[in-house]
Amino acid sequence: MLEQGTISIHTENIFPIIKKSLYSDHQIFLRELVSNAVDAIQKLTMVSRAGEYSGDTGEPEITIAIDKDKKTLSISDNGIGMTAEEVKKYINQVAFSSAEEFIHKYEGKADQPIIGHFGLGFYSSFMVAKQVEIDTLSYQEGATAVHWICDGSPAFTLDESSRTTRGTTITLTLMAEEEEFLEPARIKNLVKTFCDFMPVPIKLDGEVLNRQKAPWRESASNLTQEDYLEFYRYLYPFQEEPLLWVHLNTDYPFIVNGILYFPKMRPDVDVTKGQIKLFCNQVFVSDNCEEIIPQFLMPMRGVIDSTDIPLNVSRSYLQGDRTVKRIGDYIAKKVGDRLKELYRNDKEQYINAWKDLGTFVKFGVLNDEKFKKQVEDILIFRSTAELAAEKTETPAVEVQSSDSDVWQDVNSNSGNSLPYTTIKEYLERNKERHENKVFYCTDEASQATYIALHKNQGLEVLFMDSFIDTHFINFLEREYQDVKFTRVDSDLDNTLLDDKSSEIVDPTTNKTKSEIIKELFEKSLNKPKVNIRTESLKSEDSKATPPAMVLLPEILRRLRDMN
Ligand code: ADP
Ligand code: MG
Repeated sequence: MLEQGTISIHTENIFPIIKKSLYSDHQIFLRELVSNAVDAIQKLTMVSRAGEYSGDTGEPEITIAIDKDKKTLSISDNGIGMTAEEVKKYINQVAFSSAEEFIHKYEGKADQPIIGHFGLGFYSSFMVAKQVEIDTLSYQEGATAVHWICDGSPAFTLDESSRTTRGTTITLTLMAEEEEFLEPARIKNLVKTFCDFMPVPIKLDGEVLNRQKAPWRESASNLTQEDYLEFYRYLYPFQEEPLLWVHLNTDYPFIVNGILYFPKMRPDVDVTKGQIKLFCNQVFVSDNCEEIIPQFLMPMRGVIDSTDIPLNVSRSYLQGDRTVKRIGDYIAKKVGDRLKELYRNDKEQYINAWKDLGTFVKFGVLNDEKFKKQVEDILIFRSTAELAAEKTETPAVEVQSSDSDVWQDVNSNSGNSLPYTTIKEYLERNKERHENKVFYCTDEASQATYIALHKNQGLEVLFMDSFIDTHFINFLEREYQDVKFTRVDSDLDNTLLDDKSSEIVDPTTNKTKSEIIKELFEKSLNKPKVNIRTESLKSEDSKATPPAMVLLPEILRRLRDMN
Protein backbone atom coordinates (compact mmCIF):
# COMPACT_ATOMS: atom_id res chain seq x y z
CA MET A 1 0.00 0.00 0.00
CA LEU A 2 1.30 3.39 -0.97
CA GLU A 3 -1.04 5.48 1.07
CA GLN A 4 -4.39 5.49 2.85
CA GLY A 5 -6.39 8.60 3.64
CA THR A 6 -9.56 10.65 3.54
CA ILE A 7 -10.80 12.48 0.50
CA SER A 8 -11.17 16.19 1.13
CA ILE A 9 -13.56 18.64 -0.41
CA HIS A 10 -12.69 22.14 -1.50
CA THR A 11 -15.54 24.19 -0.09
CA GLU A 12 -15.01 27.06 -2.56
CA ASN A 13 -15.59 24.72 -5.45
CA ILE A 14 -18.33 22.55 -4.10
CA PHE A 15 -20.38 25.36 -2.58
CA PRO A 16 -21.66 26.80 -5.86
CA ILE A 17 -22.62 23.30 -6.94
CA ILE A 18 -24.61 22.69 -3.79
CA LYS A 19 -26.34 26.02 -4.12
CA LYS A 20 -27.14 25.90 -7.79
CA SER A 21 -27.36 22.32 -8.84
CA LEU A 22 -28.64 20.34 -5.92
CA TYR A 23 -32.23 21.16 -6.74
CA SER A 24 -33.47 21.98 -10.18
CA ASP A 25 -36.31 24.00 -8.80
CA HIS A 26 -35.67 27.28 -6.97
CA GLN A 27 -39.01 27.43 -5.26
CA ILE A 28 -38.34 24.39 -3.12
CA PHE A 29 -36.20 26.51 -0.74
CA LEU A 30 -39.43 27.38 1.02
CA ARG A 31 -40.38 23.74 1.43
CA GLU A 32 -36.93 23.06 2.92
CA LEU A 33 -37.00 25.94 5.39
CA VAL A 34 -40.56 25.23 6.48
CA SER A 35 -39.81 21.55 6.97
CA ASN A 36 -36.82 22.47 9.13
CA ALA A 37 -39.18 24.63 11.19
CA VAL A 38 -41.67 21.74 11.49
CA ASP A 39 -38.82 19.47 12.59
CA ALA A 40 -37.67 22.02 15.17
CA ILE A 41 -41.15 22.07 16.67
CA GLN A 42 -41.41 18.30 16.62
CA LYS A 43 -38.02 18.03 18.29
CA LEU A 44 -39.15 20.33 21.08
CA THR A 45 -42.08 18.01 21.74
CA MET A 46 -39.67 15.10 21.84
CA VAL A 47 -37.28 16.63 24.39
CA SER A 48 -40.24 17.80 26.44
CA ARG A 49 -41.71 14.32 26.48
CA ALA A 50 -38.35 12.93 27.46
CA GLY A 51 -38.46 15.23 30.50
CA GLU A 52 -35.51 17.28 29.29
CA TYR A 53 -37.46 20.46 28.93
CA SER A 54 -39.91 21.64 31.54
CA GLY A 55 -40.70 25.06 30.07
CA ASP A 56 -43.88 25.88 28.17
CA THR A 57 -43.74 24.58 24.62
CA GLY A 58 -46.51 26.98 23.61
CA GLU A 59 -48.76 26.56 20.61
CA PRO A 60 -46.62 25.32 17.73
CA GLU A 61 -46.52 27.89 14.98
CA ILE A 62 -44.55 28.88 11.91
CA THR A 63 -44.73 32.47 10.70
CA ILE A 64 -43.68 33.75 7.32
CA ALA A 65 -43.03 37.47 7.00
CA ILE A 66 -42.30 39.56 3.94
CA ASP A 67 -40.56 42.94 3.96
CA LYS A 68 -40.76 44.38 0.48
CA ASP A 69 -38.58 47.39 1.31
CA LYS A 70 -35.74 45.38 2.71
CA LYS A 71 -36.41 42.63 0.15
CA THR A 72 -36.44 40.00 2.85
CA LEU A 73 -38.46 36.92 3.47
CA SER A 74 -38.31 35.30 6.88
CA ILE A 75 -39.50 32.04 8.34
CA SER A 76 -39.86 31.81 12.11
CA ASP A 77 -40.66 28.90 14.36
CA ASN A 78 -41.10 28.44 18.09
CA GLY A 79 -39.29 25.11 18.07
CA ILE A 80 -36.19 23.83 19.68
CA GLY A 81 -33.76 26.55 18.54
CA MET A 82 -30.01 26.11 18.23
CA THR A 83 -27.08 26.82 20.49
CA ALA A 84 -23.92 28.33 19.04
CA GLU A 85 -22.40 24.84 19.10
CA GLU A 86 -25.31 23.44 17.13
CA VAL A 87 -25.08 26.16 14.53
CA LYS A 88 -21.42 25.35 14.11
CA LYS A 89 -22.13 21.66 13.91
CA TYR A 90 -25.26 21.49 11.77
CA ILE A 91 -25.14 24.66 9.74
CA ASN A 92 -21.46 25.29 9.21
CA GLN A 93 -20.90 21.71 8.25
CA VAL A 94 -22.68 21.03 5.02
CA ALA A 95 -24.40 17.67 4.75
CA PHE A 96 -24.58 17.26 8.49
CA SER A 97 -28.00 16.62 9.91
CA SER A 98 -29.16 16.35 13.50
CA ALA A 99 -32.09 14.21 12.46
CA GLU A 100 -30.59 10.80 12.94
CA GLU A 101 -29.09 11.66 16.31
CA PHE A 102 -32.44 12.91 17.45
CA ILE A 103 -34.46 10.00 16.24
CA HIS A 104 -32.01 7.68 17.92
CA LYS A 105 -31.94 9.53 21.24
CA TYR A 106 -35.67 10.18 21.54
CA GLU A 107 -37.02 7.06 19.99
CA GLY A 108 -40.73 6.63 20.50
CA LYS A 109 -41.20 10.22 21.60
CA ALA A 110 -42.32 11.54 18.23
CA ASP A 111 -45.84 11.52 16.91
CA GLN A 112 -44.68 12.88 13.60
CA PRO A 113 -41.68 11.64 11.73
CA ILE A 114 -38.71 13.98 11.44
CA ILE A 115 -38.57 15.23 7.87
CA GLY A 116 -34.89 16.16 7.61
CA HIS A 117 -32.28 13.63 6.77
CA PHE A 118 -29.41 14.63 4.55
CA GLY A 119 -28.37 17.94 6.03
CA LEU A 120 -28.57 19.74 2.70
CA GLY A 121 -31.98 21.42 2.70
CA PHE A 122 -30.93 24.56 4.48
CA TYR A 123 -28.46 25.43 1.74
CA SER A 124 -31.19 25.55 -0.85
CA SER A 125 -31.94 29.02 0.53
CA PHE A 126 -28.86 30.26 -1.31
CA MET A 127 -30.57 29.48 -4.60
CA VAL A 128 -32.72 32.56 -4.06
CA ALA A 129 -30.94 34.61 -1.39
CA LYS A 130 -27.80 36.72 -1.58
CA GLN A 131 -27.65 36.68 2.20
CA VAL A 132 -29.05 34.29 4.78
CA GLU A 133 -29.33 35.03 8.49
CA ILE A 134 -30.18 32.75 11.37
CA ASP A 135 -31.39 34.24 14.61
CA THR A 136 -31.95 31.53 17.15
CA LEU A 137 -32.36 30.74 20.84
CA SER A 138 -32.14 27.18 22.07
CA TYR A 139 -34.56 25.63 24.58
CA GLN A 140 -31.56 24.61 26.70
CA GLU A 141 -31.19 26.30 30.01
CA GLY A 142 -28.72 29.17 30.02
CA ALA A 143 -28.33 29.10 26.26
CA THR A 144 -27.27 32.34 24.59
CA ALA A 145 -29.12 33.49 21.51
CA VAL A 146 -26.95 33.61 18.41
CA HIS A 147 -26.99 35.37 15.07
CA TRP A 148 -25.36 33.79 12.03
CA ILE A 149 -24.87 35.55 8.70
CA CYS A 150 -23.58 34.20 5.43
CA ASP A 151 -23.53 35.86 2.02
CA GLY A 152 -23.26 32.67 0.05
CA SER A 153 -19.50 32.48 0.11
CA PRO A 154 -18.10 29.86 2.45
CA ALA A 155 -17.36 32.68 4.96
CA PHE A 156 -19.83 33.35 7.76
CA THR A 157 -20.03 35.34 10.97
CA LEU A 158 -21.49 34.13 14.24
CA ASP A 159 -22.44 36.63 16.97
CA GLU A 160 -24.47 36.87 20.09
CA SER A 161 -28.04 37.97 19.52
CA SER A 162 -30.50 39.99 21.57
CA ARG A 163 -33.26 37.45 20.90
CA THR A 164 -35.26 36.46 23.97
CA THR A 165 -37.84 34.00 22.63
CA ARG A 166 -37.10 30.36 22.07
CA GLY A 167 -36.99 29.30 18.44
CA THR A 168 -35.44 30.25 15.14
CA THR A 169 -35.91 32.88 12.48
CA ILE A 170 -34.31 32.41 9.09
CA THR A 171 -34.15 35.63 7.08
CA LEU A 172 -33.36 35.63 3.38
CA THR A 173 -32.34 38.76 1.52
CA LEU A 174 -33.51 37.85 -1.94
CA MET A 175 -31.47 38.22 -5.09
CA ALA A 176 -32.83 40.76 -7.55
CA GLU A 177 -34.03 38.05 -9.94
CA GLU A 178 -35.88 36.18 -7.21
CA GLU A 179 -38.09 38.99 -5.99
CA GLU A 180 -41.22 37.11 -7.00
CA PHE A 181 -40.93 35.48 -3.59
CA LEU A 182 -41.82 38.82 -2.03
CA GLU A 183 -45.35 38.43 -3.39
CA PRO A 184 -47.71 37.10 -0.72
CA ALA A 185 -49.77 35.32 -3.37
CA ARG A 186 -46.71 33.45 -4.59
CA ILE A 187 -45.81 32.39 -1.06
CA LYS A 188 -49.36 31.32 -0.27
CA ASN A 189 -49.36 29.25 -3.38
CA LEU A 190 -46.09 27.56 -2.52
CA VAL A 191 -47.23 26.78 1.01
CA LYS A 192 -50.44 25.31 -0.39
CA THR A 193 -48.51 23.17 -2.82
CA PHE A 194 -45.67 21.92 -0.68
CA CYS A 195 -46.67 22.40 2.94
CA ASP A 196 -50.42 21.96 2.96
CA PHE A 197 -50.35 18.80 5.06
CA MET A 198 -47.49 19.66 7.38
CA PRO A 199 -48.79 19.27 10.91
CA VAL A 200 -48.09 22.82 12.16
CA PRO A 201 -50.04 26.00 11.29
CA ILE A 202 -48.10 28.14 8.83
CA LYS A 203 -49.12 31.79 8.96
CA LEU A 204 -48.67 34.76 6.69
CA ASP A 205 -50.15 38.09 7.81
CA GLY A 206 -52.00 36.32 10.61
CA GLU A 207 -53.74 33.94 8.23
CA VAL A 208 -53.20 30.19 8.50
CA LEU A 209 -52.35 28.94 5.03
CA ASN A 210 -52.20 25.19 5.34
CA ARG A 211 -54.72 22.45 6.03
CA GLN A 212 -52.36 20.55 8.37
CA LYS A 213 -54.41 17.41 8.71
CA ALA A 214 -53.20 14.57 6.53
CA PRO A 215 -56.01 11.98 6.48
CA TRP A 216 -53.72 9.31 5.08
CA ARG A 217 -51.78 9.37 8.34
CA GLU A 218 -54.91 8.40 10.26
CA SER A 219 -55.85 4.82 10.69
CA ALA A 220 -58.65 3.77 8.39
CA SER A 221 -60.90 2.95 11.33
CA ASN A 222 -60.84 6.61 12.38
CA LEU A 223 -62.14 7.82 9.05
CA THR A 224 -65.72 7.81 7.89
CA GLN A 225 -66.95 7.46 4.34
CA GLU A 226 -67.59 11.19 4.39
CA ASP A 227 -64.01 11.90 5.50
CA TYR A 228 -62.71 10.07 2.46
CA LEU A 229 -65.11 11.83 0.14
CA GLU A 230 -64.31 15.20 1.67
CA PHE A 231 -60.61 14.61 1.15
CA TYR A 232 -61.22 13.64 -2.46
CA ARG A 233 -63.20 16.82 -3.04
CA TYR A 234 -60.42 18.77 -1.41
CA LEU A 235 -57.77 17.28 -3.69
CA TYR A 236 -59.87 17.31 -6.85
CA PRO A 237 -62.52 20.00 -6.56
CA PHE A 238 -65.57 20.02 -8.81
CA GLN A 239 -65.20 16.37 -9.75
CA GLU A 240 -67.70 13.61 -9.44
CA GLU A 241 -67.50 11.36 -6.43
CA PRO A 242 -64.94 8.58 -6.76
CA LEU A 243 -66.09 5.02 -7.36
CA LEU A 244 -64.00 3.48 -4.61
CA TRP A 245 -60.84 4.02 -2.66
CA VAL A 246 -58.09 2.16 -0.84
CA HIS A 247 -56.25 3.28 2.24
CA LEU A 248 -52.59 2.30 2.09
CA ASN A 249 -50.95 1.77 5.40
CA THR A 250 -47.92 -0.42 5.82
CA ASP A 251 -44.65 -0.27 7.72
CA TYR A 252 -43.07 -3.40 6.46
CA PRO A 253 -41.15 -4.27 4.29
CA PHE A 254 -41.45 -0.65 3.22
CA ILE A 255 -43.24 2.37 4.56
CA VAL A 256 -46.19 3.52 2.53
CA ASN A 257 -49.17 5.55 3.58
CA GLY A 258 -51.77 6.98 1.31
CA ILE A 259 -55.28 7.08 0.00
CA LEU A 260 -55.95 6.21 -3.61
CA TYR A 261 -59.24 6.76 -5.34
CA PHE A 262 -60.67 5.33 -8.51
CA PRO A 263 -62.43 8.24 -10.21
CA LYS A 264 -65.56 8.08 -12.24
CA MET A 265 -64.59 8.08 -15.90
CA ARG A 266 -65.56 11.34 -17.51
CA PRO A 267 -64.28 13.13 -20.56
CA ASP A 268 -62.43 15.59 -18.36
CA VAL A 269 -60.67 12.84 -16.45
CA ASP A 270 -57.33 12.48 -18.14
CA VAL A 271 -56.47 8.87 -17.52
CA THR A 272 -53.41 8.88 -19.71
CA LYS A 273 -51.46 10.83 -17.13
CA GLY A 274 -50.76 9.84 -13.56
CA GLN A 275 -52.65 12.02 -11.13
CA ILE A 276 -51.27 10.79 -7.87
CA LYS A 277 -49.49 13.20 -5.56
CA LEU A 278 -46.32 11.91 -4.02
CA PHE A 279 -45.38 12.98 -0.50
CA CYS A 280 -42.51 12.22 1.80
CA ASN A 281 -43.41 12.68 5.47
CA GLN A 282 -46.34 14.90 4.52
CA VAL A 283 -44.10 17.14 2.44
CA PHE A 284 -45.22 17.35 -1.15
CA VAL A 285 -42.62 15.99 -3.55
CA SER A 286 -44.20 15.62 -6.94
CA ASP A 287 -47.40 15.44 -8.87
CA ASN A 288 -46.22 12.73 -10.96
CA CYS A 289 -45.42 9.27 -9.85
CA GLU A 290 -46.55 7.22 -12.78
CA GLU A 291 -43.69 4.81 -12.26
CA ILE A 292 -44.93 3.77 -8.86
CA ILE A 293 -48.39 2.52 -9.57
CA PRO A 294 -49.00 -0.38 -11.93
CA GLN A 295 -49.92 0.78 -15.39
CA PHE A 296 -53.40 -0.66 -15.26
CA LEU A 297 -54.17 1.52 -12.25
CA MET A 298 -53.13 4.70 -14.01
CA PRO A 299 -56.50 6.41 -13.58
CA MET A 300 -56.17 6.26 -9.82
CA ARG A 301 -55.80 9.54 -7.97
CA GLY A 302 -54.88 10.55 -4.49
CA VAL A 303 -51.84 10.57 -2.28
CA ILE A 304 -48.90 8.27 -1.71
CA ASP A 305 -46.61 9.12 1.19
CA SER A 306 -43.44 7.11 1.47
CA THR A 307 -39.91 7.57 2.68
CA ASP A 308 -38.91 4.51 0.71
CA ILE A 309 -39.38 5.90 -2.75
CA PRO A 310 -36.05 7.24 -3.97
CA LEU A 311 -36.44 10.93 -4.74
CA ASN A 312 -34.50 13.02 -7.20
CA VAL A 313 -33.64 10.05 -9.34
CA SER A 314 -34.40 9.39 -12.95
CA ARG A 315 -37.60 7.80 -14.07
CA SER A 316 -35.91 4.88 -15.69
CA TYR A 317 -34.16 4.23 -12.42
CA LEU A 318 -37.47 4.32 -10.58
CA GLN A 319 -38.97 1.84 -13.00
CA GLY A 320 -36.22 -0.62 -12.26
CA ASP A 321 -36.17 -0.06 -8.52
CA ARG A 322 -37.17 -3.14 -6.55
CA THR A 323 -38.87 -1.31 -3.72
CA VAL A 324 -40.88 0.74 -6.16
CA LYS A 325 -41.93 -2.46 -7.90
CA ARG A 326 -43.01 -3.97 -4.59
CA ILE A 327 -44.92 -0.87 -3.64
CA GLY A 328 -46.72 -1.16 -6.98
CA ASP A 329 -47.58 -4.78 -6.23
CA TYR A 330 -48.81 -3.80 -2.81
CA ILE A 331 -51.10 -1.17 -4.31
CA ALA A 332 -52.46 -3.68 -6.83
CA LYS A 333 -53.13 -6.10 -4.00
CA LYS A 334 -54.97 -3.46 -1.99
CA VAL A 335 -57.12 -2.65 -5.00
CA GLY A 336 -57.84 -6.35 -5.52
CA ASP A 337 -58.83 -6.73 -1.86
CA ARG A 338 -61.09 -3.73 -2.06
CA LEU A 339 -62.81 -5.06 -5.16
CA LYS A 340 -63.38 -8.42 -3.54
CA GLU A 341 -64.79 -6.78 -0.46
CA LEU A 342 -67.13 -4.69 -2.56
CA TYR A 343 -68.19 -7.72 -4.57
CA ARG A 344 -69.03 -9.59 -1.38
CA ASN A 345 -70.74 -6.77 0.47
CA ASP A 346 -72.33 -4.53 -2.09
CA LYS A 347 -72.97 -6.07 -5.50
CA GLU A 348 -74.89 -3.08 -6.71
CA GLN A 349 -72.04 -0.70 -6.04
CA TYR A 350 -69.61 -3.23 -7.45
CA ILE A 351 -71.53 -3.41 -10.71
CA ASN A 352 -71.77 0.33 -10.80
CA ALA A 353 -68.03 0.70 -10.35
CA TRP A 354 -67.35 -2.13 -12.79
CA LYS A 355 -68.82 -0.14 -15.66
CA ASP A 356 -65.95 2.31 -15.30
CA LEU A 357 -63.14 0.23 -13.99
CA GLY A 358 -63.91 -3.17 -15.49
CA THR A 359 -61.64 -2.48 -18.44
CA PHE A 360 -58.75 -1.67 -16.12
CA VAL A 361 -59.36 -4.74 -14.01
CA LYS A 362 -59.32 -6.89 -17.14
CA PHE A 363 -56.18 -5.17 -18.27
CA GLY A 364 -54.62 -5.91 -14.89
CA VAL A 365 -55.67 -9.54 -15.16
CA LEU A 366 -53.97 -9.82 -18.54
CA ASN A 367 -50.77 -8.25 -17.32
CA ASP A 368 -50.33 -9.14 -13.69
CA GLU A 369 -50.42 -12.76 -12.64
CA LYS A 370 -50.84 -12.02 -8.93
CA PHE A 371 -53.64 -9.58 -9.54
CA LYS A 372 -55.27 -12.11 -11.83
CA LYS A 373 -55.30 -14.73 -9.10
CA GLN A 374 -56.88 -12.23 -6.79
CA VAL A 375 -59.77 -11.09 -8.93
CA GLU A 376 -60.40 -13.92 -11.39
CA ASP A 377 -63.52 -15.01 -9.54
CA ILE A 378 -65.10 -11.60 -9.49
CA LEU A 379 -64.81 -10.70 -13.16
CA ILE A 380 -68.31 -10.00 -14.32
CA PHE A 381 -70.00 -9.75 -17.69
CA ARG A 382 -73.28 -8.30 -18.73
CA SER A 383 -75.66 -11.04 -19.68
CA THR A 384 -79.03 -11.72 -21.23
CA ALA A 385 -79.92 -14.02 -18.33
CA GLU A 386 -82.93 -12.17 -17.05
CA LEU A 387 -84.19 -11.52 -20.52
CA ALA A 388 -84.13 -15.19 -21.26
CA ALA A 389 -86.25 -15.76 -18.21
CA GLU A 390 -88.77 -13.17 -19.39
CA LYS A 391 -89.08 -14.92 -22.71
CA THR A 392 -92.78 -15.68 -22.46
CA GLU A 393 -93.66 -12.03 -21.99
CA THR A 394 -91.44 -10.72 -24.73
CA PRO A 395 -90.97 -13.23 -27.47
CA ALA A 396 -87.94 -12.58 -29.58
CA VAL A 397 -89.91 -12.24 -32.77
CA GLU A 398 -92.14 -9.62 -31.27
CA VAL A 399 -89.08 -7.75 -30.22
CA GLN A 400 -87.69 -7.93 -33.68
CA SER A 401 -90.80 -6.58 -35.27
CA SER A 402 -91.01 -3.54 -33.06
CA ASP A 403 -90.07 -0.28 -34.65
CA SER A 404 -87.37 0.82 -32.29
CA ASP A 405 -83.74 -0.23 -32.53
CA VAL A 406 -83.36 -3.93 -32.40
CA TRP A 407 -80.46 -3.94 -30.03
CA GLN A 408 -82.16 -1.66 -27.59
CA ASP A 409 -85.04 -4.04 -27.27
CA VAL A 410 -82.80 -6.98 -26.96
CA ASN A 411 -81.02 -5.04 -24.31
CA SER A 412 -84.36 -4.55 -22.60
CA ASN A 413 -84.53 -1.74 -20.08
CA SER A 414 -80.94 -1.04 -20.96
CA GLY A 415 -78.43 0.30 -18.48
CA ASN A 416 -78.32 -0.24 -14.77
CA SER A 417 -80.79 -3.03 -14.30
CA LEU A 418 -79.09 -5.45 -16.66
CA PRO A 419 -77.76 -8.49 -14.91
CA TYR A 420 -74.09 -9.21 -14.63
CA THR A 421 -72.63 -12.61 -14.07
CA THR A 422 -69.33 -14.32 -13.52
CA ILE A 423 -68.30 -17.07 -15.94
CA LYS A 424 -68.61 -19.62 -13.15
CA GLU A 425 -72.17 -18.60 -12.37
CA TYR A 426 -72.97 -18.63 -16.06
CA LEU A 427 -71.65 -22.16 -16.53
CA GLU A 428 -73.41 -23.39 -13.44
CA ARG A 429 -76.73 -21.82 -14.43
CA ASN A 430 -76.59 -23.17 -17.96
CA LYS A 431 -75.03 -26.55 -17.25
CA GLU A 432 -77.86 -28.44 -18.85
CA ARG A 433 -78.70 -26.38 -21.89
CA HIS A 434 -75.25 -25.23 -22.93
CA GLU A 435 -73.04 -28.26 -22.52
CA ASN A 436 -70.00 -26.24 -21.47
CA LYS A 437 -70.49 -23.58 -24.04
CA VAL A 438 -70.34 -19.88 -23.41
CA PHE A 439 -72.15 -17.79 -25.96
CA TYR A 440 -70.99 -14.26 -26.31
CA CYS A 441 -71.49 -11.31 -28.56
CA THR A 442 -68.89 -8.71 -29.41
CA ASP A 443 -71.16 -6.08 -30.85
CA GLU A 444 -74.63 -5.59 -29.63
CA ALA A 445 -75.78 -3.66 -32.65
CA SER A 446 -74.60 -5.78 -35.51
CA GLN A 447 -75.20 -9.05 -33.71
CA ALA A 448 -78.63 -8.14 -32.39
CA THR A 449 -80.32 -10.71 -34.55
CA TYR A 450 -78.14 -13.48 -33.27
CA ILE A 451 -78.52 -12.38 -29.70
CA ALA A 452 -82.27 -12.52 -30.09
CA LEU A 453 -82.00 -15.89 -31.70
CA HIS A 454 -80.05 -17.37 -28.83
CA LYS A 455 -82.23 -15.73 -26.28
CA ASN A 456 -85.23 -17.19 -27.98
CA GLN A 457 -83.71 -20.61 -27.63
CA GLY A 458 -83.23 -20.04 -23.94
CA LEU A 459 -79.51 -19.65 -24.45
CA GLU A 460 -77.76 -17.05 -22.36
CA VAL A 461 -75.45 -14.63 -24.13
CA LEU A 462 -72.66 -12.65 -22.51
CA PHE A 463 -71.71 -9.23 -23.75
CA MET A 464 -68.01 -9.18 -24.48
CA ASP A 465 -68.31 -5.94 -26.28
CA SER A 466 -65.80 -3.73 -24.59
CA PHE A 467 -62.63 -2.80 -26.34
CA ILE A 468 -60.42 -5.07 -24.31
CA ASP A 469 -62.67 -8.10 -24.62
CA THR A 470 -61.17 -9.39 -27.85
CA HIS A 471 -58.06 -10.10 -25.83
CA PHE A 472 -59.99 -11.18 -22.89
CA ILE A 473 -61.72 -13.97 -24.73
CA ASN A 474 -58.34 -15.43 -25.58
CA PHE A 475 -57.51 -15.27 -21.93
CA LEU A 476 -60.76 -16.94 -20.93
CA GLU A 477 -60.21 -19.69 -23.45
CA ARG A 478 -56.89 -20.44 -21.83
CA GLU A 479 -58.38 -20.31 -18.35
CA TYR A 480 -61.37 -22.53 -19.12
CA GLN A 481 -59.81 -25.15 -21.32
CA ASP A 482 -62.85 -27.42 -21.37
CA VAL A 483 -65.29 -24.65 -22.17
CA LYS A 484 -66.06 -23.63 -25.71
CA PHE A 485 -66.43 -19.90 -26.14
CA THR A 486 -68.73 -19.34 -29.05
CA ARG A 487 -69.54 -16.08 -30.64
CA VAL A 488 -73.26 -15.83 -31.34
CA ASP A 489 -72.86 -15.32 -35.05
CA SER A 490 -70.22 -17.95 -35.62
CA ASP A 491 -71.97 -21.11 -34.68
CA LEU A 492 -75.42 -20.98 -36.16
CA ASP A 493 -75.07 -24.20 -38.05
CA ASN A 494 -73.96 -26.27 -35.15
CA THR A 495 -76.01 -24.89 -32.38
CA LEU A 496 -79.18 -23.49 -33.71
CA LEU A 497 -79.58 -24.99 -37.11
CA ASP A 498 -78.83 -28.52 -36.15
CA ASP A 499 -80.47 -31.28 -38.08
CA LYS A 500 -84.16 -31.01 -38.99
CA SER A 501 -85.18 -34.04 -36.99
CA SER A 502 -84.35 -32.35 -33.72
CA GLU A 503 -86.03 -29.16 -34.77
CA ILE A 504 -87.33 -27.46 -31.65
CA VAL A 505 -90.52 -25.56 -31.76
CA ASP A 506 -90.64 -22.27 -29.90
CA PRO A 507 -93.60 -22.62 -27.53
CA THR A 508 -94.55 -18.94 -27.69
CA THR A 509 -94.60 -18.60 -31.43
CA ASN A 510 -95.13 -22.19 -32.46
CA LYS A 511 -92.43 -21.82 -35.07
CA THR A 512 -89.38 -23.90 -35.67
CA LYS A 513 -85.93 -22.52 -35.17
CA SER A 514 -85.20 -22.34 -38.85
CA GLU A 515 -88.45 -20.56 -39.45
CA ILE A 516 -87.65 -18.03 -36.77
CA ILE A 517 -84.20 -17.45 -38.12
CA LYS A 518 -85.48 -17.01 -41.61
CA GLU A 519 -88.08 -14.58 -40.40
CA LEU A 520 -85.57 -12.68 -38.34
CA PHE A 521 -83.21 -12.41 -41.24
CA GLU A 522 -85.88 -11.15 -43.56
CA LYS A 523 -87.08 -8.58 -41.10
CA SER A 524 -83.63 -7.56 -40.22
CA LEU A 525 -82.65 -7.07 -43.81
CA ASN A 526 -85.27 -4.40 -44.13
CA LYS A 527 -83.79 -2.53 -41.25
CA PRO A 528 -80.93 -0.35 -42.29
CA LYS A 529 -79.31 -0.53 -38.90
CA VAL A 530 -78.92 -4.23 -38.76
CA ASN A 531 -76.17 -5.76 -40.79
CA ILE A 532 -75.87 -9.41 -41.31
CA ARG A 533 -72.32 -9.75 -42.33
CA THR A 534 -70.99 -12.61 -40.35
CA GLU A 535 -68.21 -13.28 -42.78
CA SER A 536 -66.85 -9.80 -42.91
CA LEU A 537 -67.08 -9.50 -39.16
CA LYS A 538 -65.24 -12.70 -38.68
CA SER A 539 -62.42 -11.84 -40.99
CA GLU A 540 -62.10 -8.45 -39.39
CA ASP A 541 -61.80 -9.94 -35.97
CA SER A 542 -59.47 -12.73 -36.87
CA LYS A 543 -56.78 -10.24 -37.82
CA ALA A 544 -53.80 -10.72 -35.62
CA THR A 545 -54.56 -8.90 -32.41
CA PRO A 546 -51.74 -6.87 -30.90
CA PRO A 547 -50.67 -7.61 -27.34
CA ALA A 548 -52.91 -5.90 -24.82
CA MET A 549 -50.08 -3.77 -23.51
CA VAL A 550 -49.76 -1.99 -26.82
CA LEU A 551 -53.41 -1.14 -26.65
CA LEU A 552 -53.43 0.69 -23.36
CA PRO A 553 -53.18 4.20 -24.77
CA GLU A 554 -56.02 3.38 -27.12
CA ILE A 555 -58.11 1.92 -24.30
CA LEU A 556 -57.52 5.00 -22.26
CA ARG A 557 -58.40 7.27 -25.13
CA ARG A 558 -61.62 5.44 -25.81
CA LEU A 559 -62.59 5.45 -22.18
CA ARG A 560 -62.06 9.15 -22.13
CA ASP A 561 -64.23 9.64 -25.18
CA MET A 562 -66.86 7.44 -23.63
CA ASN A 563 -69.91 8.83 -21.83
P1 ADP B 1 -31.83 18.29 7.44
O1 ADP B 1 -33.11 19.00 7.62
O2 ADP B 1 -31.86 17.22 6.41
O3 ADP B 1 -31.25 17.82 8.75
P2 ADP B 1 -30.86 20.90 6.75
O4 ADP B 1 -29.71 21.34 5.94
O5 ADP B 1 -32.19 21.32 6.29
O6 ADP B 1 -30.78 19.34 6.85
O7 ADP B 1 -30.63 21.38 8.22
C1 ADP B 1 -29.44 21.00 8.89
C2 ADP B 1 -29.61 21.02 10.39
O8 ADP B 1 -29.76 22.37 10.84
C3 ADP B 1 -30.85 20.33 10.89
O9 ADP B 1 -30.62 18.95 11.04
C4 ADP B 1 -31.06 21.00 12.22
O10 ADP B 1 -30.24 20.42 13.21
C5 ADP B 1 -30.57 22.41 11.98
N1 ADP B 1 -31.71 23.32 11.70
C6 ADP B 1 -32.05 23.81 10.53
N2 ADP B 1 -33.13 24.63 10.63
C7 ADP B 1 -33.46 24.63 11.93
C8 ADP B 1 -34.49 25.30 12.72
N3 ADP B 1 -35.40 26.08 12.15
N4 ADP B 1 -34.49 25.07 14.05
C9 ADP B 1 -33.59 24.29 14.63
N5 ADP B 1 -32.62 23.63 13.96
C10 ADP B 1 -32.53 23.82 12.64
MG1 MG C 1 -34.04 20.13 6.29
